[in-house]
Amino acid sequence: RSLDQVLQDGIRDIRDYPQAGVVFKDITPLLADHSGFTQVVEALAAAGRDADGNVVVDKVVGIEARGFILAAPVALALGTGFVPVRKKGKLPSATFEESYALEYGEATIEVHQDAFAPGDRVLVIDDVLATGGTVEACLRLVRRCGAEVVATSVLIDLSFLPWRERLAGERVDTLVTV
Ligand code: IMP
Repeated sequence: RSLDQVLQDGIRDIRDYPQAGVVFKDITPLLADHSGFTQVVEALAAAGRDADGNVVVDKVVGIEARGFILAAPVALALGTGFVPVRKKGKLPSATFEESYALEYGEATIEVHQDAFAPGDRVLVIDDVLATGGTVEACLRLVRRCGAEVVATSVLIDLSFLPWRERLAGERVDTLVTV
């Protein structure tokens, strides 16, 4: 199967979730499909390699919660460590935090202050780009730790929302545009 077919088969629309008027992109069918999940992990990992296939990142960051599911296997595929960026109050040691406006509401995310070595090169992974606020805040967090953002890889981007303006100047790769 082509990657496009895998994505078409594995992502479904759930209407009026979590609120009336919202069409939620549900990736659970994709996660349950071993060959599809494998292809998607490889595709998301591509931003962590150069043209010759050499790995050019030291850490892969996943954003809670669906970002974790994608980022951990990407980290193993690249042979790097994994760093969780979590919602406020979930990480046990000293953290940096950033707040941002969501498509629905407001949120604060955190990372451990010692999650990266100085100058670590980082690939950021999430499932869906909507307004771009979550990824933007995550990039601020990574940089506050003294690490360098190489790229952001996201499974789905919602082109009718303003993530592109918000992340202008950043390298962002997405596998499917809605
Ligand atoms: P943003 O910050 O507005 O770009 O929203 C992105 C965050 O909201 C991501 O962490 C997504 O997991 C979540 N999100 C927004 N819309 C959807 C959706 O349709 N399906 C799944 N997650 C979504």
